[in-house]
Amino acid sequence: MPFLDLPPWLLSLVLLPFGLILGSFCNVLIHRLPQEEEAERNVVTKNSYCPSCKAPIKPWHNLPLLGWLWLRGKCAACGWRIPFRYPLVEALGGVILAGSIWLFPFGTLIWLKAVICGFALLVLFFTDFTEMILPDVLQFPLMALGVLFTLPQLFFTEKMIAIPSGRGLTDFLQASLWHNGLQPAPSWTIFGEPVTWQASLIGLVLGYGGPWLLNATYKALRKTDGLGMGDFKMLAWLGAFWGWGPMLGILFGGAALGAVVGVPLMLMRRAGAQSMLPFGCFLALATPVIVFYGPGLWHWYSGFLG
Ligand SMILES: [Zn+2]
Repeated sequence: MPFLDLPPWLLSLVLLPFGLILGSFCNVLIHRLPQEEEAERNVVTKNSYCPSCKAPIKPWHNLPLLGWLWLRGKCAACGWRIPFRYPLVEALGGVILAGSIWLFPFGTLIWLKAVICGFALLVLFFTDFTEMILPDVLQFPLMALGVLFTLPQLFFTEKMIAIPSGRGLTDFLQASLWHNGLQPAPSWTIFGEPVTWQASLIGLVLGYGGPWLLNATYKALRKTDGLGMGDFKMLAWLGAFWGWGPMLGILFGGAALGAVVGVPLMLMRRAGAQSMLPFGCFLALATPVIVFYGPGLWHWYSGFLG
């Protein structure tokens, strides 16, 4: 029996405001984590302020989405036009949390892992997009977290829960520790076996080492840095979260996306081969594609090869 016997749409609706608030906190992280001064990076005790005039923001102006609409997109104190990124990140936060329960069984370990991954990618996409920075302070804990998520299955092997999915397959959840009777996720059909600690550790090491090798080659050929160090760390924690196979898929997908966007850009600017592309953004975009469609894509690809 599901521990929360709510219809999915109602559960989504309940989670939506929390997602918006988390999205609002993501904006704080996106603005403050790349700052150079230590004091400016404080995201815990420092109150919200306007990035332009530093005036404190009134609580009711700070409400996700509503505050922005109320202020018509301008700072109440100085009239600074609030970048569209702010309401966008808040809305995406709402979408991630409200949407999560349709794809993952609410309250299980795999659900928590996916939500954390989603919000981490949201923050990293925008710090990389705006400042070309992927903050260590997020990425190192994520590496550890990815490995930690594989540990419960070592202790609760006998309680691994099999639930029938809509397509006649049996999915195994790494839900044991925080088992809640399984809130059914309407679109849950995709996941096979949980990521093992071996796959997670290999993902962590390979995520860091693989691109490092690639980069060394690139450097030798082009005499410049192709990838930033932050990109390796991002692959490392994605490997720890989803295992080494999907991590390689994410690297491949990110590189393909980067080429699709980067090559025309380079041709347009001609000499622009030196200009840096935020590779973290492409990795962030590739991750949900691989996590949700990776096995299917792999199946299709290996069938293609014969
Ligand atoms: Zn202002």
